[in-house]
Amino acid sequence: MISIIPKPVRVEELPGQSKAEVTIAGNADPALGNEGYELHIAPAAVTLAANSPAGVFYGQQTLRQLRSADGTMPCCRIWDKPRFGWRGLMVDVSRHFFTKDEIKHFLDVMAAHKLNVFHWHLVDDQGWRIEIKRYPKLTAVAAWRSEIGFGLDPGASRCYRQDGQYGGLYTQADVREIVAYAASRHITVVPEIEMPGHSTAALVAHPEFGCSGGPYSFDAKAGITHGIFCAGQDAAFEFLENILAEVIALFPSQFIHIGGDEVPKDNWKKCQRCQQRIRDERLKNEEELQSYFIRRIEKFINSNGRRLIGWDEILEGGLAPNATVMSWRGVKGGIAAANAGHDVVMTPTTHCYFDFYQAHVGQPKAAYYQGILPLEKVYEFEPVPPEIPIEHAHHVLGGGGNLWTEFMPNYGHLQFMTYPRACALAEVLWSPKESRDLADFKARLKAHTKLLDTLGVTYAQTLDA
Ligand SMILES: [Zn+2]
Repeated sequence: MISIIPKPVRVEELPGQSKAEVTIAGNADPALGNEGYELHIAPAAVTLAANSPAGVFYGQQTLRQLRSADGTMPCCRIWDKPRFGWRGLMVDVSRHFFTKDEIKHFLDVMAAHKLNVFHWHLVDDQGWRIEIKRYPKLTAVAAWRSEIGFGLDPGASRCYRQDGQYGGLYTQADVREIVAYAASRHITVVPEIEMPGHSTAALVAHPEFGCSGGPYSFDAKAGITHGIFCAGQDAAFEFLENILAEVIALFPSQFIHIGGDEVPKDNWKKCQRCQQRIRDERLKNEEELQSYFIRRIEKFINSNGRRLIGWDEILEGGLAPNATVMSWRGVKGGIAAANAGHDVVMTPTTHCYFDFYQAHVGQPKAAYYQGILPLEKVYEFEPVPPEIPIEHAHHVLGGGGNLWTEFMPNYGHLQFMTYPRACALAEVLWSPKESRDLADFKARLKAHTKLLDTLGVTYAQTLDA
């Protein structure tokens, strides 16, 4: 058996072994599209054909998995292309910080699994991580907090300043370097700037853009906090648009993620300016005020030639006209959006929340909301539920796994929560649905752990659990 993850569309095993040089040919079967490749390994010659550099790159990832330590490869013919164009992982760097080199290693391992979207959750209540030239206080003040938080051992991280403050930031030069590093591995980096909720860090630095005017302080606990932007102030929109303008200049991604999730509305209910906005714009309630907020930001993003994506709460009060929805509270939001003609990315908690426990026992502290998420359950993930009829199925761009890092204070722990579950996700998002076979996957995964070892990945030992 040829042990490749994710599993290729078609594999024909041929007799013999090869150590021949790889010849790369353009103009492959047009049906392979932009990311597919064909591979023919014969004793005397190895040919890799693809229609694009991405296809060549994915063929090379397959070759890497086929090659044994002495350089020999089993003879075979492979015809392969992905099922979905969005094969993602999200990393939250706000709750805990990961260095530039750690992010690069994370991208290396993603690329080896043919994952192609790195969704970078750069800001949240507990830290602002991206340098914004116009507002230096965002990182000078809000990239640092007094403690590691979340009830964790302070020794679990090395991200401390000399004065003992915990945190970290990415300069714009760091961001450019990471975006280029990702691009050379055919990974798009989708930045996420949370608004209007999950914005305590921004408001610690700039309390003037909240309803109360602050002061705001960090509360490094899991859950929802009340740091939300004031929807009644034009100055708050200007602030966010100036930030987004810098973000858009740094990230070539077509999509800009604006969060939009878990927005408690009580501040807006009490705020005279927000209530005035509701009257001026003839909105019914605070849900419609949230919708007004997202539409206004979408207009700005669209006017810069980009597309807005947000968590499924952006459906509440009416979806912005061109918005793409990331469905996390199950797949219901994704179904509603796809059937209304919007693009969606499926990341339901049930199958894609890699911050959940991987097993019932013997695991370090993890998030526990709806249950555990073992490897097998990830492998059962189906991004196109039956409620989306065939004519709307193309609106499902793909899916992604989410690494909310409240309980992942260092890079080793982040990898431990990611792998091997991301191996299962990679196969779900790349391989044909009909080829899914859990026993076969587990057998291939056993062999695949050699590659994880070579890549220096710390992974959970859940295969035999
Ligand atoms: Zn307000």
